[in-house]
Amino acid sequence: MGGMRRSPDEIERMRKAGRVVAEMHAATRAAIRPGVTTAELDRVARDVLERRGARSNFLHYHGFPAVICTSPNDVIVHGIPGPYRLEEGDIISVDCGAIVEGYHGDAAFTAGVGRVSASAERLMQVTEASLWAGIAEMEAGHRLHDIGRAIQEVAEKAGFSVVREYTGHGIGTAMHEDPNVLNYWPGRPGPVLKSGMPLAIEPMVNAGGAATRQLDDGWTVVTADGSLSAHFEHTIVVTDGGPEVLTLAD
Ligand code: MG
Ligand code: MG
Repeated sequence: MGGMRRSPDEIERMRKAGRVVAEMHAATRAAIRPGVTTAELDRVARDVLERRGARSNFLHYHGFPAVICTSPNDVIVHGIPGPYRLEEGDIISVDCGAIVEGYHGDAAFTAGVGRVSASAERLMQVTEASLWAGIAEMEAGHRLHDIGRAIQEVAEKAGFSVVREYTGHGIGTAMHEDPNVLNYWPGRPGPVLKSGMPLAIEPMVNAGGAATRQLDDGWTVVTADGSLSAHFEHTIVVTDGGPEVLTLAD
């Protein structure tokens, strides 16, 4: 199924939500340092939502207890903020979302805590580059799975692997709408991209193998082999002038 096309008025509301998400990123990024707990990062993000009068699309989502996901080291996605204290050399993924005037934004980044290893730095750089390679495919007339093909090529050329079980998604009046945005080439091109279609693109890239495992908390997804994982995401809309990233700061 193809993605929904949104009107200019709807896209304008999504820009507002996206700006709140960008502010959550800036605030949590600035708070990342050794000794800070992931619960404290959640508090920082909550403060932004409250200050902007935005609602959380993460809190209570299928019972999720926080407004962000915090996923350190071998955690791929969906880590729950809590007592874990960041340590020098960790990498930490922060996934944030917001609802403004009924429209959703969703974006994630991974950052180092203090000084990190060269291999961790490279994993983060490659994962972010794979996201931007996917974004560059968001042109009217391109096909949906051109995005995943571009992401996979960047990640695998670097010797890393892309997670298959979790994907990007359409986004608009719900956080997760059709279609799923794969981070790999599934052997067929998928639907044609059209102006006005918003998508959340979110490569999850592992330093080792692609296999995943979910912990007993029912949320936290880790790499099966214990290797590091990075995650970057933006909410983007196809326009006649190319991709417009909605979750960047002004
Ligand atoms: Mg997200
Ligand atoms: Mg998402």
